[in-house]
Amino acid sequence: MNRLNRRELLQSAGLLLAAAPLSAEAPAAAPDSAYDWIRSTRILIAEAYNPPFYPSLDYDPAKAVRIARELNADALRYPAASYYAYFPTKSGFPVHPELQGDPMRRTVDLCHEAGLKVVAYVPLNHPFMEVTSKDPRFAGWSKKFADGRPMTTEHYGVAEYYEGCLNSPVREVLKALVREVLVDYPVDVLYFDGPYQGMQNARSYCHCRYCEAAYREKLGRPVPNQEGKVSREEEIAYTNWMAQDVVIAFLHEIREMIRRTRDVPVLFNDTSLLSRREWRNRAIPVVDGFMFEAAETPEDKLFNLQLGQSTGRVTWTYVGTHTQYNREHLKDERVRGWFSYPVESQELLLDGATAIAAGAGLVYWGLARFFYQPDGPLAYESGRYVKEIFDFQQKHEALLRSVRSRPQAGILVSAQTIDWYAGKHFVSKAYENGAHGAYQALKANGFEAEPFLDWQMSPEWLSRYEMVYAPNAACLSDAQCRMLAAWVRSGGKLLATHLTSVADEYGRVRKDYGLAELFGAEFVDPQPVEIPDLYLKLPTGEEIPQDPQILRFRARGGRVLAETIDRGHRAVLGPAIVQQDAGGGSVIYIGSSLEAVYEETRMKRLRSFLGALVTPWLAPRRSYEIDYQPGVMPHFMASRDVLLLHLLADTGNKNKHLRSREEFLPVANVKARIRVPEGRRVHSVSLLRAGAELPRTVHEGWLDISVPSVWIHEAVKVDLA
Ligand SMILES: [Zn+2]
Repeated sequence: MNRLNRRELLQSAGLLLAAAPLSAEAPAAAPDSAYDWIRSTRILIAEAYNPPFYPSLDYDPAKAVRIARELNADALRYPAASYYAYFPTKSGFPVHPELQGDPMRRTVDLCHEAGLKVVAYVPLNHPFMEVTSKDPRFAGWSKKFADGRPMTTEHYGVAEYYEGCLNSPVREVLKALVREVLVDYPVDVLYFDGPYQGMQNARSYCHCRYCEAAYREKLGRPVPNQEGKVSREEEIAYTNWMAQDVVIAFLHEIREMIRRTRDVPVLFNDTSLLSRREWRNRAIPVVDGFMFEAAETPEDKLFNLQLGQSTGRVTWTYVGTHTQYNREHLKDERVRGWFSYPVESQELLLDGATAIAAGAGLVYWGLARFFYQPDGPLAYESGRYVKEIFDFQQKHEALLRSVRSRPQAGILVSAQTIDWYAGKHFVSKAYENGAHGAYQALKANGFEAEPFLDWQMSPEWLSRYEMVYAPNAACLSDAQCRMLAAWVRSGGKLLATHLTSVADEYGRVRKDYGLAELFGAEFVDPQPVEIPDLYLKLPTGEEIPQDPQILRFRARGGRVLAETIDRGHRAVLGPAIVQQDAGGGSVIYIGSSLEAVYEETRMKRLRSFLGALVTPWLAPRRSYEIDYQPGVMPHFMASRDVLLLHLLADTGNKNKHLRSREEFLPVANVKARIRVPEGRRVHSVSLLRAGAELPRTVHEGWLDISVPSVWIHEAVKVDLA
């Protein structure tokens, strides 16, 4: 097998740093209980970008801790700073003008007296410098356009802020801020928002004198001017320099300072995981865990959380933030709605259940929703829902911590394509539809899948899976192509679609697929075409909907499983799907993003077609089977002695207005079969929500179950003897 070592892989992905080498290996498990605790948290956030901290400071530590206890939280996240610091800092970070005494110390003391942990929130260069401030230092700390103008941003609709530059003296101020929090306060965990290098101008190159000097020292030339033409090579050089040498190196430096000073777990905010030319997902190896804030749908949230779990790092998620006010009619979207009112409805329960099913730490956002209310949090529907979510997590903590996902398939999430691919028909904001569609199509057919990041791929990593789904992974390096080919020859099953491997890891288009030999295909043109009313013609003669965007190719050794028919022009456009065996494995290549069409349409015929393609590969070792019911999403977890099938029922009245309030209906009579591991017997079957026992009906190694009703979430627990 053609194996790459880790160093070669990292080099090929541009990951090895000269200045700040990062360990890609997981750190040894520390015995400290905080490292254990972060795996199943129930945190209440005190957020400071809005009331009761900003613009006016109304915060009251005793009230906050009382609310946290009533919600059954086991920790409070205190904002050491937001636009201002909320403790008497000597770091140079501006202090809130209304600050009196030390509410951070009081909060930490009260929390620890009540048995709650404290997570300190520290923003790392999150914009904080109000442009109307008289502080003379701010001008020198800001990011600059090529003509010297400072870059500014809005955030929550209250004020405008300078964007700070991490190469400026603000870097030392932030380090001092972190050190002060760590040394002077016995907080249990440090949580970083950032490091940021701008917000609205995050992708604008910085021309401040510090950046110009540092860039010249590293690369011997000035920072490229985006007003003019910037070559791909310059873009690659600047982007990697800013991500690796500046931003991730800064986070690494801070992480190591904490390790040396007082070692506590460090997590950071990886808001949405995948954003173009972002550094965030590449920083995962530096920290102990990270937070996915939110997704627009429960299905996307489960995908994100599982992608997070795949990294081996702790994953946290907000419970409650995608229930923001929709605000479509507002002129300034950043104004948002009300963060200081208990606005959520039943979707909060589904958000919580999704996080619990995925095995994530729960973080409720936040304190502000109850702080100003006349009654305690449990007087409000959303307060009772938060407590219900926290109670469930606490009651089943040992079980939830013991189980892990058992994916048969890995979904290759192409962060490289998001960063670098720039083809004519590429719609970056819809790119994730492919990965989400692959996940949904597999889930809907009862096959467990795990998304993973392309740059983390290694031979060891691939050996976790029976099958890899590469949905439109346009950008793959030569080394990654070789790795996939070797994995297939050693028995792996690969389903690759559309532009997969047409370009290298930086989006430089190849003369043919990097995986041409493996696919048994060669492309006619690296750019796809878009034509209405295309169909897949199957060997049976049946015509089923084809993606209207196809990549035309010729078969070169692969068996043709379907052709593309252009109904309007009565034309056959050539092969659409080919399959080829290689060594002990097999490859199916689809020259379109059929899974994105499934995500966008949920057409039954596509669901069954995609299921049928992979069934011969996956059915022999599947963990469960489930009758498809619209909106019901299975999620299977297991430990040595327990099988746990979560059923998430997203069956509500959400319409095209995302973030409107939502209510749900129960789903009746959900039928499934769970495979009993060889050599084991079923000791008992129970429902975690309903609390009921189910009959142990086992036929030929399969346990038949029927769940009478699922309202939002149920989990079938099978104890093995
Ligand atoms: Zn700069």
